[in-house]
Amino acid sequence: MSDQIRVRFAPSPTGYLHVGGARTAIYNWAFARAHGGKFLLRIEDTDAQRSTPENTQQILRSLAWLGLDWDEGPTLDGSSRGDFGPYLQTERAELYEREFKKLQDAGLVYPEGDSAAWRFDVRRAWPERTIEFDDLVFGHIVVERDQVEDFIIKRSDGSPIYHFAVVVDDANMLISHVIRGDDHLSNTPKQIVLYRALGYRIPEFAHLSMILGDDGKRLSKRHGATSVEAYRGEGYLPEAMVNYLALLGWAPDGKTTLFARETLAAKFKLDHVSKNPATFDAKKLNWVNQQYIKQMGASAFVDAWWPYLIKAADAEDWQLPDPSARREWYEAMYALVCERIDTLAEAAPKLAYFFSGDHLAMDERSVQKVLRGGGGDNAAANAAAAKNALEAQKAALAALGSADWTLEPITAALDDALAKLALKPKLFWQPLRVAVCGNMVSPPLNESIALLDRVLVLTRIERALQLVD
Ligand code: GLU
Repeated sequence: MSDQIRVRFAPSPTGYLHVGGARTAIYNWAFARAHGGKFLLRIEDTDAQRSTPENTQQILRSLAWLGLDWDEGPTLDGSSRGDFGPYLQTERAELYEREFKKLQDAGLVYPEGDSAAWRFDVRRAWPERTIEFDDLVFGHIVVERDQVEDFIIKRSDGSPIYHFAVVVDDANMLISHVIRGDDHLSNTPKQIVLYRALGYRIPEFAHLSMILGDDGKRLSKRHGATSVEAYRGEGYLPEAMVNYLALLGWAPDGKTTLFARETLAAKFKLDHVSKNPATFDAKKLNWVNQQYIKQMGASAFVDAWWPYLIKAADAEDWQLPDPSARREWYEAMYALVCERIDTLAEAAPKLAYFFSGDHLAMDERSVQKVLRGGGGDNAAANAAAAKNALEAQKAALAALGSADWTLEPITAALDDALAKLALKPKLFWQPLRVAVCGNMVSPPLNESIALLDRVLVLTRIERALQLVD
C-alpha cells in the first residue's frame, strides 16, 4: 500500500452542500494540500430514495465555487478523473458485491429474517472485548464491543448500506485519513470491525466537532441560511467563506483571523483542530466578508459584483450602461461603497441612484425630514433653508459646463455656494443628498454627483424643489 496522504470528501446528495459539509471539505482539501497529498470527492448516493443528480450537481458547483479543487472524482461536465473511480457509489456495485462475497465466504454475515438483506456478525468478526482507536482530534476512544449490535450491510434490493460501502470505498481508494463530521464518531467502531474483517488497513480518523448556532443548538435552517449556494446568492465571496469556515475549529496561530486559501493550504494541521464545538457567528462572517471586499480592489469588485448588479437591474428595470464602454464608471463606484457593504448583494441598493435615471425612488422619511423641514419648531425655517440650498446648488451646478463635470470643480462650486448662503453645512448638504441620491444616508455626495450625468443631476434637484413647496 502506498503511504501517500489521500483524503476524501464524501457527501450524500440528499440535499445541498451546507456550511458544515463545506468546512469538512475545506479541512480535507487543506490537509491534502499541506501534505502534498490527494483530495478525492466521492458521491455517496446509495440511498436511492433521497439522492438526486441535481443535488450532486449543486454540491459540485458549490465546491468548485469555493475553489476546493479536487484531484479525483466526478467533474462538473459529467465525466470523472482519477484511477480509483467510478466515484459515484451507485456505479460501484460490482466491487461491493465482490467484497460482500468475502464476508459471506468467511461466515461473517447472516440473512436478515426471511428478507434478502444481510447482517454483519460483529461478535464473530471481533472476539475481543473492546474496540479501540486513536482519533486525531478526539483522542483515544474505547468502545465495548457488546455495545455494537450486528448491523445490516446489504439491503434486500442488493444495495450496500453506508457502513459497508464507505469502508470498501475508503480502502479501495487508498484513503489514508478519514476526516469527517463527529456525527460519524459513533459509526467508527462498526467500521473498524469491518475493515479488519475484510483484511484492509485501518486508516487514521479525525472527527470534526459540530457547528452550533448562536443559541448553542446544532446549526440548522432555523438559524438562517445554511447552504453554500444561499451564501453565494447573498454576495459572500468564496475566499471569505473559506476563510471564515476554516476558522470554525482551526486557526493558523493565536491571533490571525484573515488568511488566504494559500496560507490554509500551507499551514493546515489536524493537531491544531479543536474538539470543542464551534459557534457559527453570522456577524463575524459579515466582518470577514467586508474585509475581503475592502481588499479586493475596484477591478475585481466589478467582476464579482456584476451578476448581482444584473439581478438587481432585472428586478428594478434599470438599463445598465454597457460595461465594456463604461468600465471606469463602474469601477469608480467601488471606492464609494466598499466600506459600506458586508456583501456584494448590498451594493446595488446602496448605489441605486446611479441606475434609476428619471425614476429615482425617494425615501419618504428623508423627504419629510430634510426637504419638508420634519415637523417640530424649526420645520418652516428648515424647509425654507432646503429650498434656498437647492436653488443655489442648482445655479452653481448649472453654471458648470460638461467639461467641468468632475469632482474638483463640482466641489469648488458647491463650497462657494455654501459660503455665500452661510447656512449650517448640514442644512446645505442634506437636501442635495436627498435630491440626488433619494435618501439622507448615502455614499459620498460630491463623488456621486461627479459620476452622474449633469442633466440628470439638475433634473433631480428641480424635482426635489417641487417636493419642498
Ligand atoms: N456520506 C456521509 C455523509 O454525508 C459521509 C461519510 C463519511 O464521511 O464517512 O454524512
